[in-house]
Amino acid sequence: MKLFTVGPVEMFPDTLEISARQLPYFRTPEFSEIMLENETLFKKSICAPKNTRVVFLTASGTAAMEAAVINCFTTDDRLLVIQGGSFGKRFGEICKVHKIPFDEVKLSFGEQLTREKLESYKNKNYNGLLVNLHETSTGQLYDIDMLSKFCRQNDMYLIVDAIGAYGADEINFERYGIDELIVSSQKALALAPGAAIIAVSERLYRQRVISTDSGSLYLDFKQHIENIKRGQTPFTPAVGIFLGLNQRLKQMLCTGMKEISQDIHRLSCQFRQEVINLGFQVPEYPLSNALTPVVAAPHAERLYQRLREGYGMEVTPSGGELKEVLVRVGHLGNVRWEDYKELLRAMNEVKCGF
Ligand SMILES: *Cc1c(COP(=O)(O)O)cnc(C)c1O
Repeated sequence: MKLFTVGPVEMFPDTLEISARQLPYFRTPEFSEIMLENETLFKKSICAPKNTRVVFLTASGTAAMEAAVINCFTTDDRLLVIQGGSFGKRFGEICKVHKIPFDEVKLSFGEQLTREKLESYKNKNYNGLLVNLHETSTGQLYDIDMLSKFCRQNDMYLIVDAIGAYGADEINFERYGIDELIVSSQKALALAPGAAIIAVSERLYRQRVISTDSGSLYLDFKQHIENIKRGQTPFTPAVGIFLGLNQRLKQMLCTGMKEISQDIHRLSCQFRQEVINLGFQVPEYPLSNALTPVVAAPHAERLYQRLREGYGMEVTPSGGELKEVLVRVGHLGNVRWEDYKELLRAMNEVKCGF
């Protein structure tokens, strides 16, 4: 099965080789060394200043989203959530569970997040903005420059779930004054699912994290941040994934984060052009390089199934109201243009059968 998904994705040979090895014990100077290096390399990969704190969680991305919220905000705060799809909705659900008051900037499918749309939420005393930079359920990439300015002008902390954007779109923690940035292992890092990384700005750490009662043992940042000073985590980490992370970060930084996102950009542009030539539609809103949303209404589910069963090609199906509207074609991990040529051929054949 060839994966054109967004996570897990096709892994690289080096990752597969590392994951086949016996795991080491982790309370050792050797493993601490690797985690400290992971911290430094990760900060470099998102252009974060040296004093940025990094938390390594053994959990899926959603736990990291929840942790990012509960370690900084309480029921006394008011948050603004960009809700343009299922991941934005999830931020709202997290606030609800923890009884943190919030409002949503709601986008309907196909609608772009614009400055005008944000305007009506200014000067409303929100403490922070929660946004999935790439709303992976639709492929929309929000304008980080616009969101950053909005947060600065309205004195809000900027919390960015970059799980769907990291490694595919340009990320700059420092330039955009990001306060928390969330990444997880199974997307562009092309590692197994189960690990997440959160970068915390020095100001957020000092002003919020230190004094906030997270109400969680496992997800409490204070313990994690204290432990990582010596290259350790409070609980048993996903040892194998963090070893793979070390190799991937070195590899990615060696190639250059910018070069990587440019390569994926070229690949995605080429695919979009060809898929439109086949008669499919691609939405008009700004897109992440990480995936192409392909409008295949009312046959999206059937297209997904036929590609899977007839061709051994797995694209990403959609859920909820987009189930019959969209399939999402990922551009992450170990995939090349040759793979897309075959996918396009298969998509064309399936389409002719509708
Ligand atoms: C994949 C993804 C997540 C992570 O979800 P999990 O299934 O919990 O790993 C979160 N946010 C975005 C934007 C994503 O693309």
